[in-house]
Parts: sequence; structure tokens; C-alpha cells
Amino acid sequence: MTFSDLGLSPKVLSAVSDAGYTKPTPIQAGAIPHALLGKDVLGIAQTGTGKTASFVLPMLTRLEKGRARARMPRTLILEPTRELAAQVEENFIKYGKNHKLNIALLIGGVSFDEQDKKLERGADVLIATPGRLLDHRERGKLLLNGVEILVIDEADRMLDMGFIPDIERICEMIPFTRQTLFFSATMPPEITKLTEKFLHAPVRVEVSKAASTATSITQRLVKSGTKPWEKRETLRNLIKAEDADLKNAIIFCNRKVEVSELFRSLLKHDFDAGALHGDMDQRARMQMLNNFRDGKLRYLVASDVAARGLDIPDVSHVFNYDVPIHAEDYVHRIGRTGRAGRAGKSFTIATRADTKYVDAIERLIGTKIEWHDGDLSTVTESEGEEQPRRGRGAPRRAGRKDEDRKDDRKERGERKKDRHAKRDEAPEAARDEQPVAEVADIAERRARKDAIRSENERKGSGNRHEQRGDARPQRDRPGRHRQEEDDATVGFGDDVPAFMRIVAKV
Ligand code: AMP
Repeated sequence: MTFSDLGLSPKVLSAVSDAGYTKPTPIQAGAIPHALLGKDVLGIAQTGTGKTASFVLPMLTRLEKGRARARMPRTLILEPTRELAAQVEENFIKYGKNHKLNIALLIGGVSFDEQDKKLERGADVLIATPGRLLDHRERGKLLLNGVEILVIDEADRMLDMGFIPDIERICEMIPFTRQTLFFSATMPPEITKLTEKFLHAPVRVEVSKAASTATSITQRLVKSGTKPWEKRETLRNLIKAEDADLKNAIIFCNRKVEVSELFRSLLKHDFDAGALHGDMDQRARMQMLNNFRDGKLRYLVASDVAARGLDIPDVSHVFNYDVPIHAEDYVHRIGRTGRAGRAGKSFTIATRADTKYVDAIERLIGTKIEWHDGDLSTVTESEGEEQPRRGRGAPRRAGRKDEDRKDDRKERGERKKDRHAKRDEAPEAARDEQPVAEVADIAERRARKDAIRSENERKGSGNRHEQRGDARPQRDRPGRHRQEEDDATVGFGDDVPAFMRIVAKV
């Protein structure tokens, strides 16, 4: 099958051909013909399958008829995070290069004024995170009763981030006669309920079993002792062993504080690393991501929320520094590699404490993951178990590297100091989730090290949860029990002093 068999317009076909794509992916082949006929589509597909084009291409074709009116967008795409929203915009620009369409991107962390202007001009395509969209609507700058096509993307991620009540509200504001295109990698019961409520006789297109992993990814478990220095050493050894095949890698951690610690440690060991997590401001996030995409950074240490759904083509390796606590995160994480049928490798560092999480992942993906170099039974007691706290003068563990030992001591000391300082301010659960200052360019390595030193003096307390795709203050949303807002200024928030963020040339 080729793209011209799908019923797309000549303008769209020409842009697709310029993008170098010759054959539709299964989700594209399955969804596009139905979307062009105006039917509701329920697409069950993970990122990396070409699902963005599966809604962008038919939308472009359908938008060729008609015009947008001021403040009344013709189509609406909801995305859980700012990065995903920005990526969808890039797709509209790429595939819509033969169209003269007004595209408006409504995301948090950016001023309302520019966004207002775009809405006023009349948007053919409105791409938004739910919170910012509702903010504009409440300010009276946006009318949703002209929306002909609604896309809800990454619905399961929306659920994880507490967006479902917003999605329901938005769906109710859009005319009943609209077309809805709905995408989710997995179908938990809450999502099924949502589709039953808001989709009309949808065509279901499922490109692979829900929560399955791409077959082009070689997955391995890697045994390690439980201590941070042991895990870091395991990771470094793995990276070195993979060097010949390793083009670039995303390294996932479960918590922001681990992203920060690992990032610092990798820099210290001279790896070209950057970091991406939810407390970074939008500009630093985009810059870090662009540096990684452009090959200026070889390693990106990331948390789940920050990296979810990001389209970074051609990532050769994914390392799970921590086994994800939610099995579905494993599917999303390793889905960063092996995209669009390319080969990829994923390594998950597992300790004895992770056994139940590994079991849950294997149950979810329906297969056993092979061990890279022997399973945990070969980890000796002293490697695998937490040692009792050493008293003053107790003997040091043999074989431990001085640098890492220093690191650990420093980190423990700093965390303790910080926790004491923040005890009265931070909620219980937030105490060990501290925001960190970030840096954004590998060329500025030396200065970054200075920045990291400065970061140790930071004052911030932490978010309980990762950032979200928009920025509405909780007080504006009575009655919701949601995660922290994307922009909630905790610690330094967006006000991280410049010297700690981006730093001078070496
Ligand atoms: P997505 O699932 O939308 O994040 O897309 C994953 C990647 O596949 C993106 O880098 C797309 O540019 C690429 N892609 C989309 N459609 C095709 C296609 N038909 N053939 C090859 N690559 C594609």
C-alpha cells in the first residue's frame, strides 16, 4: 500500500513525499481512510508508530475546504504536555507546507498575548494542553462551538496526569456533531469509559496489542547492587560496553532528584549528558531537547513525564537506571528507541528490591526479559543488600570508587541539610523531590560544572509529582484532586537564577 491509496489530497501527498515517507505505517493505513470519511476513530497505538501523521494528514486534507473565524478554531488537538503539543505543531508545519493554515499553539509557560493574537486571527488548527485551553476559554478569548474535528492524543497519559475531568469538560463544550479522533497506547478502564461516552460508533484501529513493546527493540535486564554508586557504576560500564553501537541514549530515572544526581555524576565522569525533568522551565527543556536531537548531547537523563511521547528519531539506546514502578511506563520508556521499525536496545538496571516491578512488567508485556549478564542470583550479598549504616570508624567497603563515595556522602549531606531547611514548608511526600537547576548546552561543560556546584546551594522544595503540560493554578480549579501543576513555582520554579541555568561559554 502507498500513501496515494489512502484518499489524501494532492497537496498532502506532495508534502509526505517531500518528507521522504513512501509507505504508510499500520496505524496510518488503518486510521486515515476512516478519518477522511469523517468517522470517529479509536486508535490504539504507542508513540513511534507514526500515529501523529495518522491524524495530521487527514485533518489537513479535510481542512482544505472552509475558513476559520476569529476566536473560533476549526479543529482542536489536545496533548498532555507542552513538548508533545509543540511536536504536533511541527508535524502540521511539515505536512502542511502546501497549505495556508493558521496554527495556534496554546501551552503553559508562554505569554497569553501572542496566543490571543493567533486566536483572534482565526485558527484552522488549535493545539493545546487542557489547562491552558480552559484558561483561554474562561478569559472569553476562545469559543469552541466551531470545532469540527477534535483529537485527543495520548489519552492514557492524560489519565496519569489527572487531566480526565478537563477532557470531559472540553468534550462537552464542543458540538455533538464533531468528529473525534482518539489515541491511546493502552486502554485502562477509565479510558474505555471515556471513549464510550464521547465517541460515536468509532472505528477501532489497533496496531499492536495494548502495552506491547516493539519487536525491533532488544530488551535486557542488567543486575546491580542497590546502592546509588553501584547502579551508577553498572550504568557506566554498560554504556562503555555498548559504545560501538551507541549513537545516543535516553537514561530514565524514577524521580527528579535521581535525574539530578545521575546527571551530575555522568558529567563528572565526562559523559556528554543533559537532563530533562519537569521542574525545568520551558525554554531550558526545549533547548536541552534540541541539543539532544541535534547530536550535541549523546546522553539525556530524563524523568517519565518530561520524556513521555517525545519524538526523538533514531535513539539507539534506552537505559532504565531505575525499574519503573508503573509497568506501563516501561512500555513508554523503551518505546523511545526502535521507532518506526528501526533497531534499538533497552537495558533495565534491576536490583533485588526491584523484583516485583520486573515481574509486573513481564506480566504486562507478556514475555520474559532476558538478563544481560546473569540474573540477580549472581549478585553477592554485599553487592545486593543495603549495608547497615556505618558508624564512625567502621571499615569502608572494598572496591568502592573514591569519587562516587564522595558523591554519595555529599549528596546525603546536602539532602539532609535541605530537608531540615524545608521541613516546615514542604509537604511530607515532597521532601525528597527537589527541583534542580539545569544547564542547556554541552559545549558549556566546564561552566555547567560550576552551575551544578551553585545548585547545591539552592533553596527549593519539591513537587510531589512531575510537571504537567499546562499551567493553571490549583486554586482556580475547585474540587479537583490533581497532581502538581506544570508551572507551579516550587523552589525556584521558572525563576531559577540565570547563572544556574544557562552559563557562559567556556
Ligand atoms: P509518531 O508515532 O507520530 O511519534 O512518529 C514516529 C516517527 O515516525 C516520527 O519521527 C515520524 O516522522 C516517523 N514516521 C511517520 N510516518 C512515517 C512513515 N510512513 N514512514 C516512516 N517514518 C514515519
